Amino acid sequence: MSTLFRHLPAVDQCLAALAADEGGLDKSQNPGQSPGQSLGLHALPRPLLKDLVNAFLDLVREEIRAGAFADQAQLSLGALYPRMLAYVRQGARPRFRRVLNATGVVVHTNMGRSLLAPEAVAAVAQAAAHYSNLEFDLATGERGSRYAHVESLLCRLTGAEAALVVNNNAAAVLIVLDTLCMGREVIVSRGQLVEIGGSFRIPEVMAKSGAVLREVGATNRTHLRDYEAAVGPETAAFMKVHTSNFRQVGFVKEVPLRELKTLAVACGLPVIEDLGSGSLLRLDADGLPGEPTAAEAIADGADVVSFSGDKVLGGPQAGIIVGRREIIERIKKNPLNRALRIDKMTLAALEATLRLYLDPDLARGRVPTLAMMTRPLKSLRSQAACLAGLLKRGLGGGIEVSVRPGVSRVGGGAFPEADLPTALVALTPVQRPGADAGLNPGTHHGLSVDGLRQALLATDPPLVARVEDGALCLDPRTLAPAEHPLVLSALRQALGGT
Ligand SMILES: *Cc1c(COP(=O)(O)O)cnc(C)c1O
Repeated sequence: MSTLFRHLPAVDQCLAALAADEGGLDKSQNPGQSPGQSLGLHALPRPLLKDLVNAFLDLVREEIRAGAFADQAQLSLGALYPRMLAYVRQGARPRFRRVLNATGVVVHTNMGRSLLAPEAVAAVAQAAAHYSNLEFDLATGERGSRYAHVESLLCRLTGAEAALVVNNNAAAVLIVLDTLCMGREVIVSRGQLVEIGGSFRIPEVMAKSGAVLREVGATNRTHLRDYEAAVGPETAAFMKVHTSNFRQVGFVKEVPLRELKTLAVACGLPVIEDLGSGSLLRLDADGLPGEPTAAEAIADGADVVSFSGDKVLGGPQAGIIVGRREIIERIKKNPLNRALRIDKMTLAALEATLRLYLDPDLARGRVPTLAMMTRPLKSLRSQAACLAGLLKRGLGGGIEVSVRPGVSRVGGGAFPEADLPTALVALTPVQRPGADAGLNPGTHHGLSVDGLRQALLATDPPLVARVEDGALCLDPRTLAPAEHPLVLSALRQALGGT
């Protein structure tokens, strides 16, 4: 055995062989890869390549110890090369990668929330590759404000006097409270003291801002008189919080913004509203009722409103703050604003996205999040049929493919109760004739439905889907038709790779 170790190729030999194979690697068509992600070895940092080769050789040493090799010929560079190439190729993929979202959850925080409209993608590329007038006023040749690029659009779309954008809505809530309420009390209904995903809790953010939480009402019911009784010399503001992915039903009561505003005016206090997802369009006609828009919050009297850029709005990650000019000016001057400011690529994407909203029909067609949320069932059914047909033809008899009714979700804490009807492509691996029939019903190459779901996470690109009623279900709502061939390829890799 110890002599076998001596026949392992040297690291430098391996590196030279990989370098010589550059062209071969480049030619390997990988459907999941965009041109910018080419795995041509010449583009990889040599230390990375070297680490991968070393790791591969360690693996082979492990196998030698386990007695996997009978003679030295199996350890020649030529014999090991195909496996080494596959290993290096796998390991050289970036950590942060594209995935196929077949879950039907449109605003999926774990998968990057919103996809940008083509106009926004182009604006990001432009901002990333070139100098820009980010903080340069082209009219005067002097220093300008980065917020100027989106402020008038936001005012026009929400009816607010002024606007500002920070990193995300959590940052927006933090800086609003820090600016208006530090060291003083903010009155919030107990029914709205929610925790949303990613451990964002209103009471904790408030504590960080230095504002003092004054809870009023009962868990299920808060009345105007509860707010009124809590007002004192220490009160800085009233705050309303969207309860995000949480709903109370039954014997419940919240005070509408308009009523709270009347009290606030009488007390000379501002009303802050954390709208959460913050839609810019009413989507009631699309079967998505009840989500208030930012314009409605402003019209109903909120003095400052904050919401996310990458939830239902369908833009980049951002926290949008709109409201009364005097308040927005104070927030802009808060030193925290420098720490929370958005970058040029976000700004570029946001401006391009907001411009689409000037024409709501254009926004519905071009902003992927809106288009996916409002896609008619008829179109989803025909996409499911297309995908099912493609998979049936492409996968042979190894897997049973059918279409069944199902439900998708908006996600991102918006429309928590909305069941969006969809058509799912359901996949069940079937037993190959002759393979131990009866022992492992519902398996193929030893793959269960859950095993298939797991195997699809390792494909290129990985495919994320859910298991429902014993089948792996693909929701066409969150898959572009152009991605259907990639779905087929992922399934082939998953089924063939075991
Ligand atoms: C999502 C959400 C936030 C946090 O927004 P991010 O943009 O994710 O930081 C805050 N408040 C509410 C009510 C939310 O739904």
